[in-house]
Amino acid sequence: MNRLELSDNLPPCSRCQGRLMMSAVAPQEDQHGQPIHLELCPSCDTGNVERPAAGLLLQFFADGAGHDPTRVQEAAHLLMEWTKECMAIHGWYLADTPPD
Ligand SMILES: [Zn+2]
Repeated sequence: MNRLELSDNLPPCSRCQGRLMMSAVAPQEDQHGQPIHLELCPSCDTGNVERPAAGLLLQFFADGAGHDPTRVQEAAHLLMEWTKECMAIHGWYLADTPPD
């Protein structure tokens, strides 16, 4: 992603219209040429067996770990897994090695 913005005014969840904890726009578009929005929603993603990475990231924040600098590597890992999970829903998969 090209940039990161912090905001108190996130768009509503596309699934429940509730309040998102985190939102991002992927650097790729979907098959219809529309932006892919990555959403972390406490209502939709807590305990959602189809989105285990989102649930783990929500639990991480619920535990207060987002303010613990000793857990920054765990945060990075959980964010990457959440991003991959969200992108896979739209048919995008991360390649471990870039193409030649
Ligand atoms: Zn939701």
